[in-house]
Amino acid sequence: MTAPRPGDPLLDGPHDPEHDPRASYVLEPSHVASLTGRIVATTGRTAEVRSPVNDAPLAHVPQSSPEDVAEAFARARTAQQVWAGTPAEARAEVLLRFHDLVLERAEEVMDLICWESGKARTHAFDEIGHVALTARYYARTGAGTLARRRVPGVVPGLTRVEVNRVAKGVVGVISPWNYPFTMALCDGVAAVMAGNAVVLKPDAQTMLTALLGVELLELAGAPRGLWQVVAGPGPEIGGAVVAHADYVCFTGSTATGRRIAAGCAERLIGCSLELGGKNPMLVLADADVERAAEGAVRASFSNAGQLCVSTERIFVADAVYEAFVDRFVARTQALSLGAGTGWGIDVGSLVSAAQLEKVTAHVDDAVAHGAAVLTGGRHRPDLGPYVFEPTILEGVNPSMACFAEETFGPVVALHRFTDEADAVARANEGDFGLNAAVFGRDAAHARRVARALHCGTVNVNEGFAATFGSIAAPMGGMRSSGLGRRQGAEGLLRFTESQSVATQRLLPLAPSLGLDDRRYAVALTAALRAMKRLGRA
Ligand code: NAD
Repeated sequence: MTAPRPGDPLLDGPHDPEHDPRASYVLEPSHVASLTGRIVATTGRTAEVRSPVNDAPLAHVPQSSPEDVAEAFARARTAQQVWAGTPAEARAEVLLRFHDLVLERAEEVMDLICWESGKARTHAFDEIGHVALTARYYARTGAGTLARRRVPGVVPGLTRVEVNRVAKGVVGVISPWNYPFTMALCDGVAAVMAGNAVVLKPDAQTMLTALLGVELLELAGAPRGLWQVVAGPGPEIGGAVVAHADYVCFTGSTATGRRIAAGCAERLIGCSLELGGKNPMLVLADADVERAAEGAVRASFSNAGQLCVSTERIFVADAVYEAFVDRFVARTQALSLGAGTGWGIDVGSLVSAAQLEKVTAHVDDAVAHGAAVLTGGRHRPDLGPYVFEPTILEGVNPSMACFAEETFGPVVALHRFTDEADAVARANEGDFGLNAAVFGRDAAHARRVARALHCGTVNVNEGFAATFGSIAAPMGGMRSSGLGRRQGAEGLLRFTESQSVATQRLLPLAPSLGLDDRRYAVALTAALRAMKRLGRA
């Protein structure tokens, strides 16, 4: 990789692919062919993928039909039957080797992430870190979480009960483009650890990144066939994924999530849904303003705001409002923008023309209804086809689309508050409940505020990375932001059915030893009272 230099055209000058040495980067055709060769696709159709970095074609991806999806599930099911019999410790070994391979091949993975998604390299690195953390966490804890365990039986000493964890079978994973490496892999890594196979349908924009991840898993020792990949528009083949899966993991918009949930309900299968948000941050009166401003920049503009846990609303205490806004605007204006694969870009490109259109529409609508733009607000085609400036708005009200709708871009609205309880109530408004942040010097007080927020994750003195990176902690949304949790033990156990096996010893659970029904009831009543007195559960 070429490190960015002052004067680099991608960083601070007109974007001219002709003169950018990195724009000549193309994947080795043989590598593209081996990656796309993994897709179960017999339609003969391909879809072109263009890079948001320079709008040049990256690859032509073979497309799957619903029948191909059925075939992918059939192959995965065969592989899963063998895999489920593999000891958990052996599965963990594969994940640990995968962890090492992801770190060894990080540069190549980050190149591909940048070319396919347009994000800044530093945010591509976040994906490397998240996948490695996830693989290590489940490798190290998975066998213990899945282990058979004993629980008390109905009659102590007479009833022996064990609880087993049985893999669901084949898990369908439908993933988005915004974190194309980790969203394609992190759920499936846990599913595989639990003894399942996976059929993955990544977003059409970011197929190659997902396929490279699957290649690394196989190099790490996952049996070929265990992790199948299909390609195509969600509305065309998403239904077939739901139709054949034993469990579905979906990450994407709330609208699509509802459709997936309805399909799963019809088949009586489980699903976990990681959906959108309109995530609030609270800057309390005792906050360290500099620290809060630094956190707000990362919380609002990481991945150009195309992050499910990104902050889009900031509620600032009156006492620190001016000081905070001053520091937040100054720090935002110091960010470097650009489209490229090198280090040194703070805010990368949006992923597509559609995303640019949505972000522009939200800002234009807010301005038309009277919002003030404190910084940003403009498309920057001079830096890349879909680069948009990090934008801070003031005076956003319910008449504006960006008040309650997710923008999913680098746009954040500031709101002032005097009463903390009122700020919490305003932060809790709306349908979403994914992530929140609270900044305050008194961390115990900030945690009390955090507990009052109706969000699945809340970060104190950090925007999102503290919860996101803590893989032992469950992550997911309340209300319209999702269903179920990834990460932590919950993130593994969702891929299993619990099976209870109870063995009755010596006496049956019925009148015996000469007791008739009435005496049996009397004896049992006495036993129930005694067990309560003894403090038994
Ligand atoms: P999207 O719902 O349009 O697409 C996500 C995935 O679903 C893609 O693979 C797409 O092909 C597929 N899909 C689309 N329609 C489908 C259908 N009818 N049936 C089955 N699959 C279908 O979402 P998007 O706009 O591409 O992604 C951005 C959204 O994802 C944002 O709202 C964001 O908040 C959310 N997101 C959430 C998380 C999280 O962890 N909570 C993470 C990333 C993104």
